[in-house]
Amino acid sequence: MTIKDEQQPLHILFFPFLAPGHLIPVADMAALFAARGVKCTILTTPVNAAVIRSAVDRANEAFRSTDAPAIDITVVPFPDVGLPPGVESVPALNSDAEGDKFFHAIHRLREPFDRFLAENRPDTVVADSFFDWSLDAASENGVPRLAFLGSSMFARACSNSMLRNNPAEAAPDDPDALVALPGLPRRVELRRSQMMDPKKRPEHWAFFQRVNAVDQESYGELFNSFHDLEPDYFEHYTTTLGRRAWLVGPVALASKDMATRGTNGLSPDADGCLRWLDAKPAGSVVYVSFGTLSLSSPTELRELARGLDLSGKNFVWVIGGAATEESEWMPDGFAELMARGERGLIIRGWAPQMLILNHQAVGGFVTHCGWNSTLESVSAGVPMVTWPRYADQFYNEKLVVELLKVGVGVGSADFASKFEARRVIGGEAIAEAIGRVMGDGEGGEAIREKAKELGEKARGAVEKGGSSYDDVGRLVDELMARRSSVNA
Ligand code: UDP
Repeated sequence: MTIKDEQQPLHILFFPFLAPGHLIPVADMAALFAARGVKCTILTTPVNAAVIRSAVDRANEAFRSTDAPAIDITVVPFPDVGLPPGVESVPALNSDAEGDKFFHAIHRLREPFDRFLAENRPDTVVADSFFDWSLDAASENGVPRLAFLGSSMFARACSNSMLRNNPAEAAPDDPDALVALPGLPRRVELRRSQMMDPKKRPEHWAFFQRVNAVDQESYGELFNSFHDLEPDYFEHYTTTLGRRAWLVGPVALASKDMATRGTNGLSPDADGCLRWLDAKPAGSVVYVSFGTLSLSSPTELRELARGLDLSGKNFVWVIGGAATEESEWMPDGFAELMARGERGLIIRGWAPQMLILNHQAVGGFVTHCGWNSTLESVSAGVPMVTWPRYADQFYNEKLVVELLKVGVGVGSADFASKFEARRVIGGEAIAEAIGRVMGDGEGGEAIREKAKELGEKARGAVEKGGSSYDDVGRLVDELMARRSSVNA
C-alpha cells in the first residue's frame, strides 16, 4: 500500500435493513460520519433509496461548502422472488406469506453486498443485525463488520438475557405471570404475554439467537443512544457481556431534513398541521403515532378516539396510509369534534414527526415505543404515553417509564405483530395516561421536568465535545489506525 492510500478518507459502507425504522437512522448516521470526513456509501434497493434520498441530498447540500465528502447511495435491484413490483420493504408486506418471500429476497442481497465489498474494499461495513449472513461475507472480504440494529442498549441487554436464559419457560403458564430477566444490572420483569414466545415462534426465536451471536462475534456494535441515557447498560454490555459498543446518537439530531426525513411523499396534511400547532398554547397538544409497522383494528381506533376526546387535550393523530374507513371506527360525536377543527387534527400518511415533536405546542407523545420515535421524543424533551406492541418495544417502555421516568404506560399487555390480535385498551385508560403525563395531577410536573432535562443531555451528547461526538471520533481514529496496521 502507498502513503496516498493512507491519506484517502476512511470509507464506511452502510447496509441497512429494508424498513424505514432501520433506513432513517442509517441515513442520519452517514451524515454524522461524513461530517467528520468519512466517505459514506449506503447500499440499498430502489424503493428504499427513495425513502432516504431527501435526507442524503440535504446532508450533501449542507456539506458543499465544507471538506466533508458527499454521501453516496448505491442502488441495487430488489431480487425477484415473486413479490409485486415495488414491494421491497417491511411496511409494504400484507401477509406472512409475503414476509417469507421478503426474507428470501433479503438473503439474495448477499450477492450485490459481496460484489460491493470485493470491488470497493471499504474500511468497514456497518451492517444491519438482521443481515446475519453479512459477517461471513465481510470476513471473506477482509472487511470488519460493525453491527447496527437501531435499538436501545437496554433493549439489547434484555433481549440477550431472554435469548440466553429463556426465563418464560419455567414461569407459570399464565399470560399475566411476571417473568424476571436474569443477569441484568437491576431487576427487570415483564408479563409473560409481553414476551416473544419461543414455542409460538420457533423460527423467530432461532433467528434472533443467530442475530445475537453474530453481532457478538462482530468487530463491534453501533448504537443510536448516548452515554448519559443508559450508563448502567453500557457498562453491562461492555464489561459483563464483553461486547464492544460505540454510542453515536441521537442520530436524528444530525438530520438536515426535519420536514421530509424518511419519505418521498409527505402527507398533504403536514403544512396545515404545523400552522394549526402554531396557534396552540405551549405544551397543550398530544401527538399520537405508532410508527411505520403497526396496524390498529377498528375497535382500537375507536377506543383511541374516545381516549383522546376524554383526555380533554388538543391532539395531532397520525393515521398511516392504510387507514380503515372512518365509518367503521369513529365513535359518536367524533366526526363533529374533528369538523370543528379546534381540538384535534388527523394526519393521513407520512407526518413530519421531528418538526411536530420539536414544536413548542406539543407536550406529550402517545407512542408505540419504536426506538427511533422514543429517542426523538427524548431529544425533543417531550414526555411519553407508552403503548408498545412487539419487537423491542416492551423493553423500551420499561426504560422510558421505570428507569428514565419520562413516561406513563397505557397498560399494553400483549406482544403481537401487525397481523396478530391483542387485547383492546379502553379509552378511559388512554385518557388517564395522557392526563398523568400532561395534566396537573401528582407526578406530572416531575415527568415533564425530567423529560426536559434529558432532552438537554441528548442535544449535548452530539455537540462538539459531547459523548456521542467523541465516540464517533474514537471509532474513526481506531479504524484509521487499523488501516495503517493492515497496510504495514
Ligand atoms: N416517522 C415519521 N413520520 C411518520 C411515521 C414515522 O417521520 O408519519 C419516522 C419517525 O420519526 C421515526 C421512524 O419513522 O424516525 C419510525 O421508527 P420507529 O423506530 O419509531 O418505529 P418503526 O416504524 O420502526 O416501528
